[in-house]
Amino acid sequence: MANLLFLVSQYEILEKIAQYLSTLDLFHLASTCSELYTNIRQNESIFEHLKCLALCDGNGLKARQEFRSLYGLCEGLDFARGKWGRAVYDEELEVRVWNLKCDAVNALPCLRCRVNVCEECRYVPRVRDTPPWRSRRRPHLDPALQSHTIICYCTVCDEKVERNLPPYLSDTCDCDQYTRWICLPCKLKEELPNQEYFRTRTKGSYEWDGDPNEGMWLDDNQDERAFWCPCGERAPKDGNIRCAWCMRKHKHRDTWFQEDASKIPFFDDDPCYPKIVLDPQTADQIMYPNLGYTGAIAP
Ligand SMILES: [Zn+2]
Ligand SMILES: [Zn+2]
Ligand SMILES: [Zn+2]
Ligand SMILES: [Zn+2]
Repeated sequence: MANLLFLVSQYEILEKIAQYLSTLDLFHLASTCSELYTNIRQNESIFEHLKCLALCDGNGLKARQEFRSLYGLCEGLDFARGKWGRAVYDEELEVRVWNLKCDAVNALPCLRCRVNVCEECRYVPRVRDTPPWRSRRRPHLDPALQSHTIICYCTVCDEKVERNLPPYLSDTCDCDQYTRWICLPCKLKEELPNQEYFRTRTKGSYEWDGDPNEGMWLDDNQDERAFWCPCGERAPKDGNIRCAWCMRKHKHRDTWFQEDASKIPFFDDDPCYPKIVLDPQTADQIMYPNLGYTGAIAP
């Protein structure tokens, strides 16, 4: 053990070890004794560097395959869900999902926690949306014209938020949930505060009869919704509408309707993904093309 501790205290060797472990394994290794904790975790910049070298742990894909966490838990978010939160319509061809493998070496850091996560394990909606496309692809509007995943601040708080933003290439939000690189635990964590914000700092016009001219109102399906700042002040009528994911401003809301929420390039451009087919008579969904199976296979 003494020799092992000596080896792990050598920075170059620790770097080599990190390349064969996931960040979760590094946590576990650091928890085994105080010497290893000191070497691995105590210096934040060393740990951040080791995280960059680590493998993806494979847990995201497993959750997707097993309908766990957000992949099964959509009650209240999508009415087109049935028992246990599973979709009431067909989903991806299982053979495809089950043949996927965690691409542990080709991982990139999660945009929130910086833990390395691969393409198959990052959070991505399990299936392409079906009509009526309740996709929350962009964090402000869904095809039912309900705004979501946004925050409106009072003038003082809004200036503070703007000042503390990290540098971005674009100063307006361009988040897209089909391309964002985020791990499943972080995705779960970012959903909850905004749901709480909507519950405690917004009100539908059917439950509040305030004057539309005195503060921020946004479309909310067939109604409108009034917004307050998290500090309790009413958000100003022409104030900024911010994305709750990146905190950048949204483009002016007159342009929101130009964004076609029904086109989702990740799926549309993937030739292997079965296309959704609509019955020309009834416009009902014929989920996938017939794959040619016509009966039991003869023994
Ligand atoms: Zn992975
Ligand atoms: Zn993360
Ligand atoms: Zn405020
Ligand atoms: Zn954003």
